[in-house]
Amino acid sequence: MADPTTLIVVIEDEPQIRRFVRVALEAEQYTVIEAATGTQGLMDVGTRRPDLLIVDLGLPDMDGIDVIQDIRSWSNLPILILSARTNEAHKVKALDVGADDYLTKPFGIPELLARVRALLRRSVRAHTDDVPSVRFGDVEVNLVLRTVTRNGEVVHLTSIEYRLLAQLITNAERVLTHGALLRDVWGPHHADKIHYLRVYMSNLRHKLEHDPNAPRYILTASGVGYRLVLS
Ligand code: CA
Repeated sequence: MADPTTLIVVIEDEPQIRRFVRVALEAEQYTVIEAATGTQGLMDVGTRRPDLLIVDLGLPDMDGIDVIQDIRSWSNLPILILSARTNEAHKVKALDVGADDYLTKPFGIPELLARVRALLRRSVRAHTDDVPSVRFGDVEVNLVLRTVTRNGEVVHLTSIEYRLLAQLITNAERVLTHGALLRDVWGPHHADKIHYLRVYMSNLRHKLEHDPNAPRYILTASGVGYRLVLS
């Protein structure tokens, strides 16, 4: 059960989805504030300072992308977007302007709660954790020494593999889009070379995952990008 002081704002114009999300979150002891428009939601985020925002991309009064951009100009609060299956480009844009993760409608309660927990964990870690090393599975990565070990044995990564891994680690639990990863690791002129990513992610999985074909940590966000989960 969550701490009841954990506050979540939900911006969604469809009453039945808003209610579904609120009931699911309240059952876990989160405190929920509902907003039916972008304008109301922005006001709630500004005045109530929630721990997490859930925002639908299709709102009656403004685009969800503009809500995210507005909030990102002054806040790092975790943002989970709700999006329709039919609008992949919109979802990718929302992630590129600073949303952390997404749920595609229709979604179930376990999926919703798992995403919420992961984003809240990430945000707590970002505030409290100065330790330069990160563990997942039997892998330990030290971001200061730039060393990677697996069961205590050194794993040799190429410089591109290491840079990709470091991006995933510093953004753990977030979805990183193909475009964002390509720009950060290869540079601005390679943002369309998704095949590079497939090759290097496959290499990383072979070096770091127990079963590279059924990865537990370096996950694919289908059609969108990749996500590292730490637990
Ligand atoms: Ca909507």
